[in-house]
Amino acid sequence: MEKYDYLVVGSGLFGATFAYEAAKRGKRVKVIEKRDHIAGNIYTKEVDGIQVHQYGAHIFHTSNKEIWDYVNQFATFNRYTNSPVANYKGTMYNLPFNMNTFNKMWGVRTPQEAMDKINEQRQEMAGKTPQNLEEQAISLIGRDIYEKLVKGYTEKQWGQKATELPAFIIRRLPVRLTYDNNYFNDDLQGIPVGGYTQIVEKMLASDLIDVETGVDFFAKREEYLANYPKVVFTGMIDEFFDYQLGELQYRSLRFETEELDVDNYQGNAVINYTDAETPYTRVIEHKHFEFGKGDKDKTIVTREYPADWHRGDEPYYPVNNQQNNDLYKQYAKLAQEKEANVIFGGRLGQYRYYDMDQVLHAALVCVEKEFNK
Ligand code: FAD
Repeated sequence: MEKYDYLVVGSGLFGATFAYEAAKRGKRVKVIEKRDHIAGNIYTKEVDGIQVHQYGAHIFHTSNKEIWDYVNQFATFNRYTNSPVANYKGTMYNLPFNMNTFNKMWGVRTPQEAMDKINEQRQEMAGKTPQNLEEQAISLIGRDIYEKLVKGYTEKQWGQKATELPAFIIRRLPVRLTYDNNYFNDDLQGIPVGGYTQIVEKMLASDLIDVETGVDFFAKREEYLANYPKVVFTGMIDEFFDYQLGELQYRSLRFETEELDVDNYQGNAVINYTDAETPYTRVIEHKHFEFGKGDKDKTIVTREYPADWHRGDEPYYPVNNQQNNDLYKQYAKLAQEKEANVIFGGRLGQYRYYDMDQVLHAALVCVEKEFNK
């Protein structure tokens, strides 16, 4: 076997950033990836000239200028601004909740009128302590918005009734008293022109990095641990330890992608279905991430269905409640005590609901710790 300094398990943003930075410092890196392609969940693939976000809509947004400059080394970003629209039983509302939403919902026109209406609606919970997600949402925003824009979507996302979900899941429901449909509050956002995969491709392009796809770490776990001086593991930390302390919880998703013979199917990249009856939560029309670029007679849409997670399914979202976070801490402790040569990183290795900018930041902090000690 060739001599490597690091084995990186997983070619997502965390693993690729670590590999790139290690190679920059002259280290030899082997990257293994169990899927048949690199880039983890940010993988995009061109179909009919359209960049398809294979694992759900990905919009890069950050307030951290250093992270923005860092990612811009690897791609040119367009000026895409995320402004999803909610479809509730055929009526369309702008998101996040802002003056456009309130005007459509109640006919109010000024911020004062909107606040008066919200406060009137919140009265229902006056003096009561919210006992579940439904009560919490009503205490924050009132019943109309809760029932039309929060309830069905949230119940589908979690696979549970809002009255059975804990109140803490919704700590805040941001209300914007301007006619501004920009979903994120961050200063910087966009989509890489030509998709996300190029970012990881460029990160892994060094001669010092070898990449093998279609390889599962667990197929030869002992051999890998014995032969590599150091391992960066970006898979599930509980799976690494064979679930010996118990299973962490995840939510999964099922994506249904379809090519349609029309130029423009829904007029927006992201439409949320906020009623309980529609089984999917979102429909993504990929060409709108790049302002309609691609074949004029075709479009690609993806329906996103939330799903429970069982062993063997893709673990898209960690469920960061108290119980899981406590269990994760026990796994992190076990890692420290038993696996000094393994660095656990990324969404699954650190069991955190990281966005892309946060995962880049976490990878760079890890690099700093590893090479400047
Ligand atoms: P991953 O991308 O999951 O990479 C881990 C890799 O490790 C995977 O490729 C996996 O196959 C591989 N792996 C796991 N186990 C093994 C094993 N045993 N052997 C070999 N390989 C293994 N972020 C944003 O900033 N904006 C968004 O709009 C946004 N939207 C999102 C939408 C969805 C539906 C999801 C799921 C996430 C979204 N994110 C978004 C978050 C973003 O995807 C993550 O922050 C980022 O991809 C995490 O990178 P990672 O390297 O930690 O994990």
